[in-house]
Amino acid sequence: MKPFTYERAATPAEAAAAVAGKPGAKFIAGGTNLLDLMKLQIEAPVHLIDVNGLALDRIEPTPEGGLRVGALVRNTDLAADDRVRRDYGVLSRALLAGASGQLRNKATTAGNLLQRTRCPYFYDTNMACNKRKPGSGCAAIGGVTRQLAVIGSSEACVATHPSDMAVAMRALDAVVETITPDGTERRIPMADFHRLPGETPHIETALQAGELITAVVLPPPMGGRHFYRKVRDRASYAFALVSVAAVVQRDGTGRVALGGVAHKPWRVEAAEAELPRGAKAATAAILDGARPTHENAFKVILAERTLAAVLAEARS
Ligand code: SF4
Repeated sequence: MKPFTYERAATPAEAAAAVAGKPGAKFIAGGTNLLDLMKLQIEAPVHLIDVNGLALDRIEPTPEGGLRVGALVRNTDLAADDRVRRDYGVLSRALLAGASGQLRNKATTAGNLLQRTRCPYFYDTNMACNKRKPGSGCAAIGGVTRQLAVIGSSEACVATHPSDMAVAMRALDAVVETITPDGTERRIPMADFHRLPGETPHIETALQAGELITAVVLPPPMGGRHFYRKVRDRASYAFALVSVAAVVQRDGTGRVALGGVAHKPWRVEAAEAELPRGAKAATAAILDGARPTHENAFKVILAERTLAAVLAEARS
């Protein structure tokens, strides 16, 4: 463990300014990902700013009829909230599909969005990884790719984003609220929040240096039947090979986002017009342009079959 200093922030603006003013500083809340990365020396912040004391732990109705979820709301509490269970079932189910009960008790809404990839080469400091060390190469390309991306990847990185919660939020068209170090408040649609790797896979989100997530806003409920189906190598405490977050209306229209296939939750709005024609047509449209390897080509088939199971349940 490398030495670091620590302070508690009193306000969101103070926290953002503190991180921006100290190169190498980071926020810490639940710490369920960051502390692991620090122990492995993949992350080595020189200073930690503890944001747990900020009053960002409430779920409140918005004037538009949606919900504002504070950045520090724990995953367990968000999944169990009556309003979330009733009106945003896809989100509650996605949260419960992630991690373990103990981790969900600590993990926060903002931290869940910001968790790093689980690409095995990212965690092995003997291996080249452009995400861990920009410009060093990507050991995954030509390596073991079974769990990695099939679409949206680049010559620099083929990692996937590990969050379940983010996939549901993408299907719901949630909006991330932030505060920048100069005190400006920003609203970033989930569609734009996570980035594709391109040439800079180490830059994973639209956040600026020191910008702090304060909340995630869920739009007014859209009705329909909500599904989150996750396929993984074991029944719990595993990341998705493929997941499907879907909201399906009575007439067969709806929304779908996929997890486990790309560097960000993967949703193609134009492809959703194919949903009434069935899973084969919809998956072909959603994953149009996919470039799987021989090891992870099964993900394309798995996505279609998982969506087919969701649509069959929706019709039942
Ligand atoms: Fe690193 Fe991305 Fe390559 Fe994995 S796929 S080794 S995270 S650059």
